[in-house]
Amino acid sequence: MNSQADSVEGAQSFEENPTSSGRRLTQLDRLSVTELTGIGPARAKALGAMSIVSVLDLLMHYPRRYADRSHPTLINDAVVGEESMIEAKVTSIRSRPARNRRSIVDVEIADESGVLTVTFFNQPYRKDQLHEQDDVVVFGKVELFRSKLQMTNPIVDLVGDQTGAIIPIYPQSAKAGVSSRDLTRYVTEALSRAKVFADPLPEIVRKQLKLVNRSAAFLHIHRPESMNEVFPARRRLAFDELWRMQLVLVLRKRAQAREARGIAHRTVANDPSTDLVGAFTSRLSFALTGAQRRALDEITADLASELPMHRLLQGDVGSGKTIVALITLLYGVQGGHQGALMVPTEVLAGQHFGVAKRLLAGIMVPDSRCLTGEREVRIELLTSQTSTTRRSELHQGLRDGTVDVVVGTHALLTDEVRFHSLGIVVIDEQHRFGVDQRAILREKGSGTGNDRRDPDLLVMTATPIPRTAAMTVYGDLDYSELDELPPGRTPIRTRWVSEPSDEQRVWSRVREEVTKGAQVFVVCPRVRAQDDLDESDQSGLIYLDDRGDEQPKLFGLDETATPTRPARSAIEEAERLATTELVGLRVGLLHGQMPSNEKESVMVSFRDGFLDVLVATTVIEVGVDVPRATVMIIEDADRFGIAQLHQLRGRVGRGAGESVCYLLGYDVSEEAGKRLAAVAGTTNGFELAEIDLELRGEGTVLGARQKGRNDLRLASLRRDRELVLLARSVASQMIDADPTLANSHAILNELLLFIGEDEALYLERS
Ligand code: ADP
Ligand code: MG
Repeated sequence: MNSQADSVEGAQSFEENPTSSGRRLTQLDRLSVTELTGIGPARAKALGAMSIVSVLDLLMHYPRRYADRSHPTLINDAVVGEESMIEAKVTSIRSRPARNRRSIVDVEIADESGVLTVTFFNQPYRKDQLHEQDDVVVFGKVELFRSKLQMTNPIVDLVGDQTGAIIPIYPQSAKAGVSSRDLTRYVTEALSRAKVFADPLPEIVRKQLKLVNRSAAFLHIHRPESMNEVFPARRRLAFDELWRMQLVLVLRKRAQAREARGIAHRTVANDPSTDLVGAFTSRLSFALTGAQRRALDEITADLASELPMHRLLQGDVGSGKTIVALITLLYGVQGGHQGALMVPTEVLAGQHFGVAKRLLAGIMVPDSRCLTGEREVRIELLTSQTSTTRRSELHQGLRDGTVDVVVGTHALLTDEVRFHSLGIVVIDEQHRFGVDQRAILREKGSGTGNDRRDPDLLVMTATPIPRTAAMTVYGDLDYSELDELPPGRTPIRTRWVSEPSDEQRVWSRVREEVTKGAQVFVVCPRVRAQDDLDESDQSGLIYLDDRGDEQPKLFGLDETATPTRPARSAIEEAERLATTELVGLRVGLLHGQMPSNEKESVMVSFRDGFLDVLVATTVIEVGVDVPRATVMIIEDADRFGIAQLHQLRGRVGRGAGESVCYLLGYDVSEEAGKRLAAVAGTTNGFELAEIDLELRGEGTVLGARQKGRNDLRLASLRRDRELVLLARSVASQMIDADPTLANSHAILNELLLFIGEDEALYLERS
């Protein structure tokens, strides 16, 4: 940065000159709110409690909504049954107690034409918020009650002496004593003193994308003269948020490509003895689906290149990701390297290991150390349960290269795990691992110093997330999709059982199916009755959260629900079913608090058909593959999220027989009802992912990926898909033209404002 720019960037007051092109966000961030009239230390502290410290914070504190006074309705002109905006004066306020210790506040308002009673149920604070003679704008449905006009629980805005047709309504804080009107005043002053904003987007790009400039955007989001100005302002500011995000992602992606040296894997075998992939696929009992072949083509192109692969593979439950993962690992092995498959749970590790071991049996790799010049592919399992002696054997094998593929849990991340030549890493259920954990495994690559090679990386998600969301959250990865299920699958019929009286029929059906040779899963939200929490570590609900240890929001008790009874527990339910509804059937129990060896033996008994019914917690959610299991019963299904229900349901329907899934959910909240209806309505994971995003919003999708200042305030991954794509393409073009943004200091500095420290360090390095 040159010294002139330095001094300008360092401006500490409005009066120091901004850059000739206008104020930059970085400058506004250095201006304290105390620069504004009427903000002394006490006010500054109050604002600070709302995370508003700088003028930029203030300007990015956007209105929550607007009171539009441009088309007010007179009270007597209001149409009964329709929503209206009415501007009037408060004439009286009365509060009265109601049944169940609830409260009712009646507020009478009047304009020149008539009188309207506004009734607030359960909002006792309205009594103190409103005063006689206050000017208010109310918005709500007008009703006729005992031949008088009334509104119930309308939106109320105190407009006071504010002028203008559109009044911005800011998120305010009663606790800090900062009202929307205070904020209006501060913002107005900040805008008029800041005047012109520098615009990092070239005019030609703005024109092309039909985006207004930054000055207009900030002015119109805060001070629109008509509602027509709000939308373009919001669109521009939302674009900026997404554009900054994409710039960071694209920068990171390009930096990885620049810095990393990988292995050019041998994807085409020149002689049959090294054609492990050919040997493997020819022995499969099925042909790969078109989608699997397409994904593998994309993967092999990456593998063959010197640049290490960074690819995300998305596919619905049962779309056959595991086979793709194994083939990917074999490409590494056939060139003399090793592969690692990391999964989040022991159950899943055991499962993948079992499948892989079976499929790889008899496949030979050349090895000059053997008498015959070749040996069988060696695949091993490493988890925290692996015994000490076994583990040191494995560590040895990994170091000397005699172990070709290792399947494991977090145990793979320990220091003792070193590889002879780690060529390919696959991470299943990517969301359960942190970015750092991904990095640790990658650093175990091969060679040292100048010979260091990064392994190729393939990450997979358990259930798909919408594409635009993936582009945002995993925007530094390339993308492949399995959009096709293997043939011959009979779709799982799903029924939401919403009446307790129908439950009996479900259990009779279970008995019937078992007689016909089927096996049954029964999933409960809790391990035991007295547990508050579910097996949070087993949850797949916040499926993009990097913080594996944190209690996901919707897991366990659905916050929106008002459960009339505690969730059923696996332990009690197993006992109840075995002695009542399912008496005579062989009922097993599986949950995360059981010792590993017990878990393992229960899984094996179930898989081998020694149990008819397995009552479990979500520990069976991921990957468990038992083809004879064709009935899935999810109890208290309203307590689970969409992704999780879909994952759980995916445990059946894996064989040729028709499978059914019953979602038991009685007396559920509206939100939960939507989830259950969605899951009952489709078995397409990509469709469900869209609905899930719609219902839950993006906060959960972004999760901990969003470090630093929260920069998705206006943009929505649901509504702004078009902007995500535009932002991606603009960001890519900018970085094509200026790969490290070395010639775009203003932009780089702006990015640094919005990203976390780790990320910032990373960018500064590049
Ligand atoms: P997921 O994508 O959920 O991890 P899996 O890899 O576990 O799915 O595959 C689900 C099941 O489908 C497995 O039993 C697997 O053997 C089988 N499968 C995978 N690919 C194919 C295919 N091309 N044709 C038939 N069955 C397949
Ligand atoms: Mg899988």
